[in-house]
Amino acid sequence: MRSFGYAEAENAQGLAAALGKGYRIKAGGIDLLDMMKERIDKSERIVSITGMTELRGIKERDGGVAIGALTTLNEIARDETLRKAFPALPDTVCNAATPQVREVATIAGNILQRPRCWFFRQAEYNCLRKSGQACYAVAGDNTYHSIYPMGACHITHPSNIAPALVAVGAQIIASDGKNPKSYDIRDFFLTPEQDLKRENKLPQNEFITEIFLPKMPEKSAYVEVKEKQSFDWPLAACVATYADKKWSIILAHVAPVPLRATLAENVVGEKADIDENLALQAAEAAVKTAQPMAYNGFRVHLAKAVVRRALLKACGKDFHA
Ligand SMILES: Cc1cc2nc3c(=O)[nH]c(=O)nc-3n(C[C@H](O)[C@H](O)[C@H](O)COP(=O)(O)OP(=O)(O)OC[C@H]3O[C@@H](n4cnc5c(N)ncnc54)[C@H](O)[C@@H]3O)c2cc1C
Repeated sequence: MRSFGYAEAENAQGLAAALGKGYRIKAGGIDLLDMMKERIDKSERIVSITGMTELRGIKERDGGVAIGALTTLNEIARDETLRKAFPALPDTVCNAATPQVREVATIAGNILQRPRCWFFRQAEYNCLRKSGQACYAVAGDNTYHSIYPMGACHITHPSNIAPALVAVGAQIIASDGKNPKSYDIRDFFLTPEQDLKRENKLPQNEFITEIFLPKMPEKSAYVEVKEKQSFDWPLAACVATYADKKWSIILAHVAPVPLRATLAENVVGEKADIDENLALQAAEAAVKTAQPMAYNGFRVHLAKAVVRRALLKACGKDFHA
């Protein structure tokens, strides 16, 4: 690992000043330090924000719930308000990574973590996302790559929690030290077609202060499929929520962004209670536009399974068959 400058921010003004000097934010540091050790992230100055206690905690506010940027995955997994009002959200993180990682990893760091593509994560491969000329997943082993093409790079979005936030239309509240900014999470993430080098719209001089969930859904469920139960990212996952006579069906880990399955949402329409047959039709619609590569066709079947299961689970039905 290269040597780097280190500072600790005590408040928003101090953090904004550090960002102005080119410092990069370290929250839990799980992803950032990994990227630095692999020499993919070449940051020369790091500013830790773990002392900014005002960025921690989960509070009910204005009919919704505000989650501070530094709230850890375990704090979300254990939160009683979320468990009752929006169980899919804590479910997305209660098995993510490992208990030790969840104790340190934060919600903001989680949604901003860089892609897990094994070509991107190795310094030896100068891929498109690192200013190279090729996406090595096209001709190489693309087992874990996107099954929904969205440009020349075939990453999948690695965050478990982002799809639940997209499902309820969360607002990302950010700051440049002077003014608060708000981003609608539904168009916060960038596809490779929109930008090959960045995965979201947050500019370098801004930091996330909280994630605001404006309204809790009436029904919600999260279902994932993994190769192993710990120390791993899912192969496919789905969050389904129902509110105001509308379903949100968001697929995760199969596309470069958390993917809204609009064809599936059209199939279920306003129906609050979904039976096995309708869940299956919705699942088939969700994968209609999938275009798998040479080695990841099996994940189309997994995507279909998680949509069907999430809809049935949200309706309190057995989904294992
Ligand atoms: C073995 C293993 C398994 C894992 N499995 C999963 C999994 O199944 N699902 C999953 O979702 N994740 C998984 N992860 C990833 C892990 O959850 C993320 O790396 C972690 O959540 C990142 O959070 P952090 O606080 O450590 O972020 P950091 O590493 O500190 O930061 C990540 C990025 O976010 C930026 N950042 C952080 N906070 C802010 C802020 N407030 N404002 C602006 N920028 C900010 C940093 O500058 C950096 O670019 C796994 C990790 C490991 C090691």
